[in-house]
Amino acid sequence: MKNQYTFQNSLDFAQQCDQEDLLRHFRSKFLLPTDANGNTLVYLCGNSLGLQPVQTKEYIQQELDDWQKHGVEGHTDAKHPWLSYHEFLTESMAKIVGAKSSEVVMMNTLTTNLHLMMVSFYQPTKTKYKIVVESDAFPSDKYAMESQLKFHGFYPKDGLILWTPRKGEETCRFEDLEEILRTQGEEIELLMIGSTNYYSGQHFPLKKIAQLGHKHGCKVGFDLAHGAGNIQPDLHETGADFAVWCSYKYLNSGPGSLGGCFVHERHADNDTLPRFAGWWGHNKDTRFNMRHDFDPLSGAEGWQLSNPPILSMAAIRSSLDVFEAAGFENLRAKSEKLTGFLEFLLDDLNDDQINIITPRNKKERGCQLSIQVKNADKGLHTALTKAGVISDWREPDVIRVAPAPLYNSFEDVFEFVKRLKSVLE
Ligand SMILES: *Cc1c(COP(=O)(O)O)cnc(C)c1O
Repeated sequence: MKNQYTFQNSLDFAQQCDQEDLLRHFRSKFLLPTDANGNTLVYLCGNSLGLQPVQTKEYIQQELDDWQKHGVEGHTDAKHPWLSYHEFLTESMAKIVGAKSSEVVMMNTLTTNLHLMMVSFYQPTKTKYKIVVESDAFPSDKYAMESQLKFHGFYPKDGLILWTPRKGEETCRFEDLEEILRTQGEEIELLMIGSTNYYSGQHFPLKKIAQLGHKHGCKVGFDLAHGAGNIQPDLHETGADFAVWCSYKYLNSGPGSLGGCFVHERHADNDTLPRFAGWWGHNKDTRFNMRHDFDPLSGAEGWQLSNPPILSMAAIRSSLDVFEAAGFENLRAKSEKLTGFLEFLLDDLNDDQINIITPRNKKERGCQLSIQVKNADKGLHTALTKAGVISDWREPDVIRVAPAPLYNSFEDVFEFVKRLKSVLE
């Protein structure tokens, strides 16, 4: 299932693809990093930190101005009133993750949201308490799960089951997850899977995973850190109980910006679920009376704790407006072609040292390719950086590159492979 395009290995061809790209003008809506001499870098690190939309300054400036002008009254009198500011984000965000508006809220940061969701959806008993996670999960997720196990009196060594690739393989097979559930399903309480693995770039079959987990009486949650803004995961349709993500990677909302949270609508008004509560999750009509018992809002909003940072949400609003203007389906179509071109050029290097560990099937990946370079060390990454390429290195020998369809060009991809080749030589 390799790409259906006919690519050519030349700068002319890359430039022609850029000419034909209907989204090409979006590149100028971003601020691209430059080297000391003002040359634009080849930035392929949107999987770590997405670039700044030009208009984000204005969006943030608006809130600074309204704060100056109105002080506390900005909660109601700002151009975009702060009291309900998170609601400006919900609809676009819900579209990007394929959810209903009532199922999505922007709040806190990813790891915090993961803990909050586990408070509600990880309710172990003495016999059903284990958590399944894919083996190369992001460390923060693993720490969160291990600490939840300990918090409930279990041992992570016993309680955390890793879904691992087979020997000699780099990606996980669904059959092996089925086997884990078949043999240990009685003991498993939660499947917590990164929708798109940060290391290999493998995108998992989310609906199948959710159905499998539910069949065995488990709760199912997804971490979309590398999925949101990259692949539309149809969250509602998957039937997952919850999901969490961050907004500073493919969602271009700035370092440490607020995360997102999804709670499936069947849990919207479930008051038997334990949850950690705060005033922002309380009924909006009586929130400021300050005397009532906690009366949670229906849906994901009911999990909010604090009044959120407006400056960060302004950056998210700016970014979501760019996504709206581009259209997610257009982005995904470009992304498949752009990453297909990258794959073609890497294969055309015909270098035995290089092995793409990301799945070849474009349904099983987003924009990222993880490139294993045998016998390489971090010196390779340093040399690439010197050559004006911003990529990402993962020990022991993997370079991750993620051409983002909003601001990366076919020429970027061509330049990257050209410079990689010369560095390898
Ligand atoms: C980036 C990333 C994180 C980062 O967590 P924060 O709480 O936002 O610092 C966590 N998990 C995954 C899978 C990630 O890719």
